[in-house]
Amino acid sequence: MQAIAVHPGRPNSVHLAELPKPRVEDIPDGRGVLVRVLKVGVDATDREINDALYGNAPPGYQFLVLGHESFGIVEAVGPNVKHVKPGDYVTCTVRRPGKSIYDRIGRSDITSEETYYERGINLLHGFLTEYYVDDAEFVVKMPVGLKHLHVLAEPMSCAAKAVQQAFEAQKRLQVWDPKLAFVTGAGQIGLLSTLILRLRGLEVFTFARGKAPNLKSEIVSGMGATYVSTKDKSLKDVAAAAGKPDLIIEATGSSEIAFQAMEVLGHNGAEVWTSITGGQRRVEVPSDHVNLNWVLGNKLLLGSVNANRRHFEIGIADLALGEVTYPGVIERILTNPVPGIKSYKEMMRLLVEGKDALKVYVDVAEG
Ligand code: BGC
Ligand code: ZN
Repeated sequence: MQAIAVHPGRPNSVHLAELPKPRVEDIPDGRGVLVRVLKVGVDATDREINDALYGNAPPGYQFLVLGHESFGIVEAVGPNVKHVKPGDYVTCTVRRPGKSIYDRIGRSDITSEETYYERGINLLHGFLTEYYVDDAEFVVKMPVGLKHLHVLAEPMSCAAKAVQQAFEAQKRLQVWDPKLAFVTGAGQIGLLSTLILRLRGLEVFTFARGKAPNLKSEIVSGMGATYVSTKDKSLKDVAAAAGKPDLIIEATGSSEIAFQAMEVLGHNGAEVWTSITGGQRRVEVPSDHVNLNWVLGNKLLLGSVNANRRHFEIGIADLALGEVTYPGVIERILTNPVPGIKSYKEMMRLLVEGKDALKVYVDVAEG
């Protein structure tokens, strides 16, 4: 079968590769789930891998099959698989366990090992191919009524984890009841975080570069949040008018803004960093000022990456709630389908150059 792959470490090496079709028996103990791939989304991580900033091939391979945002239909299951059956729509988690205690309790998303194993990203092939097989533990059922949101399940799981981790960590404050949030960045993680926070009842300001009105601003307002173009107002301007936020979800992909956002967080607040910045940028920060305010304000900075099965389930439940609360809004994120694995060049072109391409995904097969 065909697959979209790169040679990690070699810039702009996206190409077609060949892989043998997997079998359900490839997974031991009758726990295999064989999935026919329908759609796969790509994001900035795939772009950074193709730019040779990030990612590694599996041992013994010269190439890495891309794709970690998967949506497919179950074709066959082993005798010990109970939670999905042939014909079910599914997505799949990305990270696979190493050996730390966290990995052994099903929390590979917080592994304490330096080496992590992620399908389509690091040391494991991804889903941008015709079929994949995996252990039942990692295959997550998608309700048929969310079929139209397909590849958003994975980014939603990362947004769900980021917000959930903030709420977990803020239990340190005993009575934390956040009212105001800033979301920096209106890519998929920013928009999905906006959705989650609105569903939790927070007032949300979502910041991005583009002047309103544009697609992002329409999605943000469709979710009952306020879109702010940083061409019109800075984080500080909005904090001066609306108050300092209790929570910031940072999802711009810019480490500079990740640090800038630290200057506006309110007392007892939490800022969650979600951007993967594979580059080498350096910026100057007002370190005395930030340090002083963070100490005096008991503030928390939290990094959040990846998501485990539980975060996928929370994320999928929020997609369902989001769909009935803001009907038809979430699917507007899914802007740019590309037809078939053979369109890999167009996929990468849109990912790199497509200024208005909010979400690029490959229509691998009908189903
Ligand atoms: C993926 C995560 C992954 C992270 C770091 C993101 O694009 O969605 O699942 O953990 O990259 O590799
Ligand atoms: Zn991703």
